[in-house]
Amino acid sequence: MLAHTYMNPAIVDIADVSGDSFALSKAATKYDNEKVIMCGVRFMAETVKILSPEKRVYMPVGSATCAMAEQFSPEKVKEFKEQNPDVCVCAYINTTAALKAQCDVCVTSSTAVKIVKALEAKDILFIPDCNLGTFVKEQVPEKNIILWKGGCPVHGSITVDDVLTAKSAHPHAKIAIHPECPPEVCKMADYIGATSGILDYCKQSDDDVIIATEKGVCDWLNLHYPQKDFYQLAPEKFICRDMKLTTLESIYKTLLGEAGEEIILDEELRIAAKRPIDAMLAYGG
Ligand code: SF4
Repeated sequence: MLAHTYMNPAIVDIADVSGDSFALSKAATKYDNEKVIMCGVRFMAETVKILSPEKRVYMPVGSATCAMAEQFSPEKVKEFKEQNPDVCVCAYINTTAALKAQCDVCVTSSTAVKIVKALEAKDILFIPDCNLGTFVKEQVPEKNIILWKGGCPVHGSITVDDVLTAKSAHPHAKIAIHPECPPEVCKMADYIGATSGILDYCKQSDDDVIIATEKGVCDWLNLHYPQKDFYQLAPEKFICRDMKLTTLESIYKTLLGEAGEEIILDEELRIAAKRPIDAMLAYGG
């Protein structure tokens, strides 16, 4: 049982493995279980299946999708590639299998800068998250990074005022921000990083920390590190509804075979979607 860190902490705590989406897909390859339950959203379960085709992969709630992963159609990217054959198409791992299949290389939020820097191509289309893309663009000014307007509706809704409100309520606390947040918000961070990076930063920090990512992360930290205080930035905004569709009950019913959806991927599509993931791994991602 794999659980993304944005799940309810009660789910994270009963999972065999918890973490970022790509770390979970890699972890699944190391287990010899025939069946895997992925508690997260659809692109995460697809990525598990792409890397472990011999396993039967289930989602407790098949309708849990990621709004960002489906923002651009594979046809649009295919057409762009036909018109711009020299541009490398770089996809955040938060994309559907069908979209990955049209891309050259994947990245995660923690490896994006390193991989974009290492790409031979100078011209790069970075999809779907233009906030993460802007962050990468600033860190890798030597590349020409083309962005399309897309991104996470949850992280993308955060404003400078939200940060100022949290800072004035907790002036002693540091602030850790996910790079899916808008660039003007990221500029106010003491630490910018992916979920796993935020968790490490919070575990090591001597200070209390304001958390600017999905609420599940802050809830989990407060449960497990009661000696420190972690404050959720904009708690009313930082809830991914799709991530919260999975419940202990839906997991239990999936274990009993009474609920859940098995992920089935056409083999040709799976192989095509694995290609950019293999490219990412070849670049050390
Ligand atoms: S938080 Fe944003 S990127 Fe993550 S699953 Fe929800 S919509 Fe997608």
